[in-house]
Amino acid sequence: MSFNTEGIIFRQTRMVQGRRMILLFTKEYGKISVGSNIGDKGRSRSSLALRPFTYGYYQIYEGRNYYELDHADAVTSYYAIGEDLDRYAAGSFVLELTEKMIPEGLPQPAVFSLLIEFLQELEQRSRKYMTLVLAYELKLLRILGAFPVMGPCVVCGRKEGLHSFCVEEGGMICDECAGKAASDGHKALIFHTENDIVNVVDYFVRNPLRSFAGVALSDKAADELQRILRAYMEYHFDLGRLKSEGLFSVKENGDGKGKE
Ligand SMILES: [Zn+2]
Repeated sequence: MSFNTEGIIFRQTRMVQGRRMILLFTKEYGKISVGSNIGDKGRSRSSLALRPFTYGYYQIYEGRNYYELDHADAVTSYYAIGEDLDRYAAGSFVLELTEKMIPEGLPQPAVFSLLIEFLQELEQRSRKYMTLVLAYELKLLRILGAFPVMGPCVVCGRKEGLHSFCVEEGGMICDECAGKAASDGHKALIFHTENDIVNVVDYFVRNPLRSFAGVALSDKAADELQRILRAYMEYHFDLGRLKSEGLFSVKENGDGKGKE
């Protein structure tokens, strides 16, 4: 049988004799692997719909234990994302991160909508991409039910002195608990924060992505929050290193526009 679904291309892998495996994020079925003979170089509608940063309709044949792409139709191609290296890097990172964080074959309609909103906003944005990526990451964590505890202290419940984030415990910890953890030798996954990340995170979660068009964190604050979230996601989702991080990461290019 065949079915039609809205989808976003996560990535494709070239196989022998012009065949490809496409990792497709479908609205109805979540992340699925689909085989295809359609190339992405031609000018046909189906070819255009296989390019990166495209949202389209995909007609898929479901075999006994495989999927095959019959036909594809682009709805929107966010091609301008690829016109700037930093913007492209931010987009590639978010696609790879999302792909790794969602399970296979499980519908994730809220993540799907969020990802389309992100691609729209990213295409329009011309600088400070890290701010938008951070807002996306926080919303993604919330949808997946894995949001960190931003207070009170995740260890003892104290409301004051929340200046550190503990990756292992999954949230903010107070100065006393941070000191105790340090003297016990559990320092590796504790980040001392210099910025008011509790309020920043709260603001990011309460406002829709489209409201971030004119919002930009300082490079320092953005780098700090990204370091924390990256370590948190790596630890709790078993991410490992992502390929796209060669282009997009805190250490190498900060917010994409150099350091202060
Ligand atoms: Zn505490």
